[in-house]
Amino acid sequence: MNNPTTPTPPSAAPKKERWKANWSQLWEEVVDTEICTGCSGCIVACPKNVLTLDDGWHPALHRDAWHESDPSTCTHGERGCTLCTRACPRFRAWEPQADIHLHGRQRNPDAPEEVAGIYKSLLLLNATDPNITRQGQDGGFVSALLIYCLERGYIDAALVSYVDDEWNARPGVAWTRDDVLRAAGSRYTYSSNLAAYAEAIEEGAEKIALVGMGCQSSVAPIMMERGVRKAGKRIALNIGLLCSKTFSEDFLDGLLLDRYGLERRDITRMDIKGVLQLQLREGINEENYLEVPLKECHAFTRLGCTTCPDFSAEHADISVGGIGGFDNRSLAVVRTDYGAQLIDEMVRAELLEMADAFADDPKAVKLLNILSKGSRKRWPVSVESGRPEEHAAPGLLPS
Ligand SMILES: Cc1cc2nc3c(=O)[nH]c(=O)nc-3n(C[C@H](O)[C@H](O)[C@H](O)COP(=O)(O)OP(=O)(O)OC[C@H]3O[C@@H](n4cnc5c(N)ncnc54)[C@H](O)[C@@H]3O)c2cc1C
Ligand code: SF4
Ligand code: SF4
Repeated sequence: MNNPTTPTPPSAAPKKERWKANWSQLWEEVVDTEICTGCSGCIVACPKNVLTLDDGWHPALHRDAWHESDPSTCTHGERGCTLCTRACPRFRAWEPQADIHLHGRQRNPDAPEEVAGIYKSLLLLNATDPNITRQGQDGGFVSALLIYCLERGYIDAALVSYVDDEWNARPGVAWTRDDVLRAAGSRYTYSSNLAAYAEAIEEGAEKIALVGMGCQSSVAPIMMERGVRKAGKRIALNIGLLCSKTFSEDFLDGLLLDRYGLERRDITRMDIKGVLQLQLREGINEENYLEVPLKECHAFTRLGCTTCPDFSAEHADISVGGIGGFDNRSLAVVRTDYGAQLIDEMVRAELLEMADAFADDPKAVKLLNILSKGSRKRWPVSVESGRPEEHAAPGLLPS
């Protein structure tokens, strides 16, 4: 037995507290408090396959795993399984833990240059291949990067979002250049791309790229930091999308059909640049175009987005957006050495055109900071309790 008076040697690292939180705590602190984003992290991590996402992108426990007929209590959790809480990028001190995994330190919440998370450079990028830029939302950088990584064998597959003629966005796996191009562009309803992970694994993928908004790109680093390594390490490339919100599924019918008489099939392209911009099928109106003020869309904001503090997808290798003065360039927030290396390789292979955002588009940089700061004010829960008691930023680990 240890002598209780023996002092701890100064070199010994403080002992990590044993992680005991299970589905009951995830339910109570994340699902029931409505800060859950529907990212699918818990579902991918669950070794018993007892979690599923419902139609509203909420995780739920299969009935056969309920403990004592209670959907908030899992029989496997009662026996010690903690993987769902470990994988959740809204559970407890998720932000600093993901920061530490990626950068070895927490973001400094008082440093104005870190309001959009820790990064190495801000670049304006566009694909040089006109087929890619035509399909892409902004500069087609995301699609060009996926195609490059697939063709080089850096990844086996990518988790992306496909969309049908009715604008239903659904997670799926891209294996080829054609798949990537079919999935290019943006839709503004939620697509939990990580939900396609199981399909990618079943078909034999080992190195996977994830494309997703910040709520999804925090999953891989938080998994790695909290010991869900089997799934976490398969995310070989993590591409984030800047995002201030997504709309609920009824936005297309509840707003665009009811107020503007637009059928889903009338819309050929959507973009948000200060207003919702809709390109329309020939003959719908004279300009084949309609603008909808964003304030009319706000009522359709998805619940999980109303408390989301992460505009800038701060835990991706590279986060990508369309803000700024150029319609045909993507703004890339380069965060990791791996992200920087891939861009460098692609520029040298003349697959990308690149400019420095600070020099060429300072307004985009300013906007990135303003929007990131605005989103951070939405986080409503205290780090320690997970309950919506006070406006505590998820920026610092409790000391
Ligand atoms: C819901 C949403 C909100 C966004 N909000 C902003 C914003 O406020 N400000 C800003 O600057 N940028 C925002 N973006 C990012 C922007 O629209 C572009 O995705 C980004 O600039 C990349 O452009 P690209 O031409 O390089 O990408 P592309 O080459 O067009 O590739 C885009 C990738 O995004 C995936 N994707 C499309 N829609 C979704 C979806 N709903 N969910 C998950 N994945 C999807 C596609 O499958 C594709 O792989 C948002 C994107 C989305 C999806
Ligand atoms: S935020 Fe993601 S990981 Fe957390 S409970 Fe919701 S779906 Fe699961
Ligand atoms: S605002 Fe965007 S990043 Fe945040 S939860 Fe909603 S979809 Fe995810």
